[in-house]
Amino acid sequence: MPKGSSKCFDRDGVIKPTSKARSKARPIKLLGDPILRAPAKPVEKLTKSIGELIDQMFASMEAANGVGLAANQIGVPKRICVARHAGQTYVLINPEVMWESDETEEGVEGCLSIPNVQAVVLRPIRLRVMAYDRDGNRFEIDAEGMLARILQHELDHLDGKLIIDRAVEGSLHWVLTQVDDEGNERVVTIPTTPEEVERVFTEAVSSKMPGHDG
Ligand SMILES: [Zn+2]
Repeated sequence: MPKGSSKCFDRDGVIKPTSKARSKARPIKLLGDPILRAPAKPVEKLTKSIGELIDQMFASMEAANGVGLAANQIGVPKRICVARHAGQTYVLINPEVMWESDETEEGVEGCLSIPNVQAVVLRPIRLRVMAYDRDGNRFEIDAEGMLARILQHELDHLDGKLIIDRAVEGSLHWVLTQVDDEGNERVVTIPTTPEEVERVFTEAVSSKMPGHDG
């Protein structure tokens, strides 16, 4: 087994979505939707609709029990991501990596856009990111460990990159819950490949009837 946190990236949240969060939450785009593969565009101007988009992003992230979300994951190809970690929330508009450590670390990640899949991803342990907040103020953030991993995962989304592209060889798995005859739930992991994951999700997304939101 590869080393790294056994905690699944998108399932560690304990914060229950509030009804307010649910009402603003938007469906999360799944692998197979081309918007996830297109580089997102920089935000030119902070308008009221950008503020509303950020609220929807937080609501969608919380409703899905995630720890990070990029705007293209809810269908808006703009360079904005949100995250939460250790009781703090983060909004990054037009983020850019200023520096990253040579030292890297493997960790297990999942993705709200690729449910039931996890991968081990090798990433720099520390990095410095420059971004703008929702009031347009420039700031820099020095992140390490889990927060550094979350931010790198979300910044990848803005460039159309996903964990299946970065998975350490042999580390990609389906994570499925099986129910036995007595009704006991059991989590099973089944090895897979980036090609298989891409094919399964692409077929599922393209077979979905237009306008039929499940
Ligand atoms: Zn993701």
